[in-house]
Amino acid sequence: MNLAHLLLRRATLSPTSPALCLGGTVVADYARFARHAFSISGSLRSRLKLAHGTRVALLMANCTAYLEVLYGAWAAGCVVVPINAKLHASEVAHILADSAAAILIADEDLAQPLQAHLGSLTALQHVVLNGSAEHAALLRGDPATPVAVDPTETAWLFYTSGTTGRPKGVMQSHRSLLTMTLTYFADVDTATAQDAIIYAAPMSHGAGMYNFANVVAGARHVVPESGGFDADEMFMLAAKWGHVTSFAAPTMIRRLVDHAERTGASSEGFKTLIYGGGPMYVADIQRALRAMGPRFVQIYGQGECPMTITSLSRHDIADDSDPHWLSRLASVGVSQSSVRVRVVDEQGHDAPAGTPGEIVVAGDVVMSGYWNNPDATRDTLRDGWLRTGDVGVLDANGYLTLKDRSKDVIISGGSNIYPREVEEVLLQHPAVSEVAVIGRPDAEWGEEVIAVVVRREGTSIETAELDTHCLAHIARFKRPKAYVFVEGLPKNNYGKVLKRELRDLINPPEETLCPPTGLPAHT
Ligand code: AMP
Repeated sequence: MNLAHLLLRRATLSPTSPALCLGGTVVADYARFARHAFSISGSLRSRLKLAHGTRVALLMANCTAYLEVLYGAWAAGCVVVPINAKLHASEVAHILADSAAAILIADEDLAQPLQAHLGSLTALQHVVLNGSAEHAALLRGDPATPVAVDPTETAWLFYTSGTTGRPKGVMQSHRSLLTMTLTYFADVDTATAQDAIIYAAPMSHGAGMYNFANVVAGARHVVPESGGFDADEMFMLAAKWGHVTSFAAPTMIRRLVDHAERTGASSEGFKTLIYGGGPMYVADIQRALRAMGPRFVQIYGQGECPMTITSLSRHDIADDSDPHWLSRLASVGVSQSSVRVRVVDEQGHDAPAGTPGEIVVAGDVVMSGYWNNPDATRDTLRDGWLRTGDVGVLDANGYLTLKDRSKDVIISGGSNIYPREVEEVLLQHPAVSEVAVIGRPDAEWGEEVIAVVVRREGTSIETAELDTHCLAHIARFKRPKAYVFVEGLPKNNYGKVLKRELRDLINPPEETLCPPTGLPAHT
C-alpha cells in the first residue's frame, strides 16, 4: 500500500478536523492538507513529468509544508530523501549526488550555500524554494490521488553516516514504514483525534516518521514557530493544545525537566514524551518522573530499523514498586512486536542471558539495504538479520540494556557524530599529524566531541585554527568542543588507535587515584 493512502483515508473520514498547525494556529484542516499534497503529486507527475521512483530531496527546517511535500511525493510514486537541515553544503551535495535526486525542495537559506555544487549535480533538474512562486505553482496542480506502488518499493531514503566514510542511503519501503506505524500503536502509545504531535526534533529523522501514526488517528501536527526546540515554547504549546505527544532526544527531555523545576509550569498538557536516539541516564529519568509525572516512553531504534527495535513502556518507567525498577530504567526495554531482537556472539550464536554481544534485529521494519551499496548491505544484513553495531545484554525477562556502541559513534544532543568523519577533516590540516576523536560524557549533551591531536613536527597549531578549519568543512554540531594535544596516540600491535584507553585518559575511571600522565591539560 502507498503510504499516501493514510492521508487520503484520513481526509475522507474527517476533512474538517484541524491537521496542520504553526505554533498555536491551525493552518490547514485534513481536507486542505490532502488537497495540497495531492496537488503537489499532480504537479510532479503531469507538469514536471517525474517518473515513478524519482528521488525528491527535501532540505527544509521543520515546517508544515514538509508533510505536504512528503505525502505529495509518495502519492506521485516518488522516493523522498529528507536531508538533515544542519548538514554542511558539501555533505548535502554528496547526498544529492548519491541519490541522483531530480528535484530539491529547500529553504532559501539552506539552498544558498549549495550554489557552488549545483553544476556537478547532473541529475538535479529542479530546485524549488519553500514559499516561492514555484512552490505555490506546485500547490495549484490538478490533484492526483496516490498511484499504486509495490509495498517493497522505497519510500524514504534516509542518509545515515557510516564509520567507513561517506553517508549511506538507508532504503525504507512503504511496507516497512507502515509496519513501523502499526507497531507504534502496539508498543509505544495510543493516538487519538484529540492528540497533538509537536515536531521539536528534525522532521527529516525519527520525529518526522511519527507523523504516520498521527495521520492515522487524525491528530493535529504542530510545528513550533521557532522551528526547533525551545522548552518554554513546548510548555506553552502543551498548555494550548493539550494531549501533546512529542519525540525528544534525552537532551531535550533534560531541558523540559529543568524548565518544569525552575518555573513550576504544569506538565498536564503533555500526554506522552517519547525519548530515544541516545542514552538516558537513570538519575535523569528519575528526576523527569518527579518533575513531570508518568508521561515517558523510551524507544530504541536506528536509521536501519527506525524507531522500532525495543521500547520501555510508560508503566515500566513509572512503576517504582517493581523490584527491577532501576535496572529497567537503565535498559531500553523489550523487543517491539513486529521485530525479533537477539544478542549474539562473534560467531552469530545467541549469547546467554546477561552476556554482552552484538544486537541483531529481523522484521519488516528493517531496511531493504543501502542505496547503490551492495557491499555495505552485505556487511550489515546477514541472513535476514540487521547487525546494529550496538553492544547489549538481554536479561532473562527479555529486557535489553545497551552497553556500548561498537561503531564508536558519539551521540551529542541526540545527533550522531561519527568520529571518522571528523578525523578525516582534521587530518586535512597540514599541521595535524594524527588525530583520534572520541566522546566524553557530558551532563547537558549526553556526550561531547573531543579531538586528541598529534601536531606535525616543526609546526604549531592551536584550538582556534582547528575550529575554523572544522567549521569550513563539517556541520557545526560535529566539530570538537575541546582539543587535547599529545605527543603520540596509544596503539595496539596492529597500529590501531586504542580509543578506550584514550577515553580513560580523558575521562579517568573513578578508581584512578593518580591523574593521567602524558596528556597535558586541555587547551
Ligand atoms: P541513528 O541511526 O542516527 O538513529 O542512531 C542510532 C543509534 O543511536 C543506535 O544504534 C544506538 O547506538 C543509539 N540509540 C538509539 N536509541 C537509543 C536509546 N534509546 N538509548 C541509547 N542509545 C540509543
